[in-house]
Amino acid sequence: MNMKFQKISRTTSITGDAWDLGLPADRHRRRLLRAVAAAPLLLGMPAEAAEGVAGEGDADEAARPFPLSDVRLLDGPFLESQSLNARYLQSLNCDRLLHNYRKNAGLAPKAPVYGGWEAEGLCPGHTLGHFLSACSMLWASTGREGLRARIDYVVGELHACQEAAPGSLVCGFPDGDTQLRNCLAGRPVVGVPWYTLHKLMAGLRDASVHRRNAQALAVLVSIADWVDEAARPVDEPRFQKMLDLEHGGMSEVLADVHALTGEVRYLRLAERFSHRALLAPLAEGRDALDGLHANTQIPKVIGFARLHKLTGQAHYRQAASYFWRTVVEQRSFATGGHGADEHFFPPAEVEQHLASATTMETCGTYNMLRLTQALFAAQPTAGYADYYERALFNGILASQDPDSGMFTYFQPTRRTYPKLYCTHEHSFFCCTGTGMENHAKHGDSIYFHHQNVLYVNLFIASDLHWVDQGVRLRQTTRFPELGASRLTLRLERPTKLVLRLRHPGWCKQLSVRLNGRKLIDSDQAGRYVELARTWRDGDILEIDLPMHVHLVPLPNAPQLAALMYGPLVLAARVAGPAMPPGADFVAGNVSFGKKFKEPLEILALRLGGAGLEGAVRRSPGALAFRLGGPDLGEGYELLPFHRIAHGSYNLYWRVG
Ligand SMILES: [Zn+2]
Repeated sequence: MNMKFQKISRTTSITGDAWDLGLPADRHRRRLLRAVAAAPLLLGMPAEAAEGVAGEGDADEAARPFPLSDVRLLDGPFLESQSLNARYLQSLNCDRLLHNYRKNAGLAPKAPVYGGWEAEGLCPGHTLGHFLSACSMLWASTGREGLRARIDYVVGELHACQEAAPGSLVCGFPDGDTQLRNCLAGRPVVGVPWYTLHKLMAGLRDASVHRRNAQALAVLVSIADWVDEAARPVDEPRFQKMLDLEHGGMSEVLADVHALTGEVRYLRLAERFSHRALLAPLAEGRDALDGLHANTQIPKVIGFARLHKLTGQAHYRQAASYFWRTVVEQRSFATGGHGADEHFFPPAEVEQHLASATTMETCGTYNMLRLTQALFAAQPTAGYADYYERALFNGILASQDPDSGMFTYFQPTRRTYPKLYCTHEHSFFCCTGTGMENHAKHGDSIYFHHQNVLYVNLFIASDLHWVDQGVRLRQTTRFPELGASRLTLRLERPTKLVLRLRHPGWCKQLSVRLNGRKLIDSDQAGRYVELARTWRDGDILEIDLPMHVHLVPLPNAPQLAALMYGPLVLAARVAGPAMPPGADFVAGNVSFGKKFKEPLEILALRLGGAGLEGAVRRSPGALAFRLGGPDLGEGYELLPFHRIAHGSYNLYWRVG
């Protein structure tokens, strides 16, 4: 959230895994459209119209993620993370999250409002949207019955609020549509109205897509209609000026409403919400990002990628892919996170920002992963998948306290500073909301498909049911404890398939055995190993992915580097301020770290003659290491960054 502009604006992210709306194939979209079209009074259009328009203009898609309901996680760190998150989501009181909505629709609230940002009034009700997205994705991922009832209850309550409120807008704002109308009229604004409304719309979209809740789509479409009508009289210069204020993923979610309904006017509205001031330089390959609030921009760029998919217009695609490249290659830490104080800084100043306690806002990584998934679908290259894996382990898994399930806001690069977590009921930051979503959709980018091609991108224990091909695939792995994975195919009949196994950029030599016999050795790191054949029921592929310790220099500061083991950033445990148990759960942790900015000496890493292999030793039987060296005294314990919690750490070293 953009705290700098908090009085008049806000900052953050987006929700959902809308890439292709999580729909498995066109047939699902058509089914949904038929369901919508069965209620012509709702949308005012026949089914044929919906199908025709929805398909028109789609850019060619090269790969498609599987719907969450086709992937089930098996034992491993991601299943643990998902289970922790489910417990948190099920502990929250829907009526407390609905408080602002009922109150502002003139209905008596059924429970008191939660604390933190829910009570502060700058983006009231934003958490409900994230919660709805998270429950919907988790429902699709797990089939837990309790979640389905919660989704349906919340949607039913929102519908009741919409019925009670004047007009078709349902929102958590205390003054109804006043702030949105202020935005449109160019008047001063309190909070970030479009940003907040986007969270609700995305939650309804996800309930519609992942839970197939038709009422959610009806409420969503009514909101979109309100926006369409209210925006119509506003001329383009004023509309674009309005977009200077953070507005979340309005463009993306309106494009999704178009895809769900077939109504062209929502697509046109999505294009109006494309911020030209960002689009133009990016489409020309110009990085004008210095000083911009990072997570205000990323959702806009996801919108560009979405619009490219729906309209085929090249400049949207150019802008999105250039943005990804410059952020990942010039502006990101080894973890995949970026920014300090939520802003992009000049890349040449990276060293001074290592002392910041407010680097790497978690929402930023959440949205970079959503953008990466979208770009991979359009152009499936291993580089996107490499980044996805790195940011998933070191940014997302690392953002969740493995004990309580609570989420980070920032992930500090400042040595001696710990990760701080939100509280259970008194924070509700942007990163609390995206945190709920992060750990509800770990199955969404392990596998992709296109025709009879299956991409295996991530080494995460899981079952895949590829309905169209009659294929079930079980991936069993203890990765990253062990650099290996095993794929077992269950087929209804011998089937011609192309398996593309990702050979990660960090792996020097990958080898594959089929049914115990050596099939292939690859030294093409950062590419796919392609296996095209007729597969038989019971075929077993064993993949060896040896991991090694290596240094990853900072872009624009090669004298500074992080230690990595495979895709894992290794953090050294270091002494920090004494902290009583529980002191790292801070209701106001957004501002807590801002006072820590003074420079800190960066630890020197002199390796000696034996190099990295001599300096870093893995502890027997554990995913832990010991770092020793000529000037390192007693040395350091190194742990994967995602396993560091409740303590101080060091990420970067001065090398060479
Ligand atoms: Zn955030």
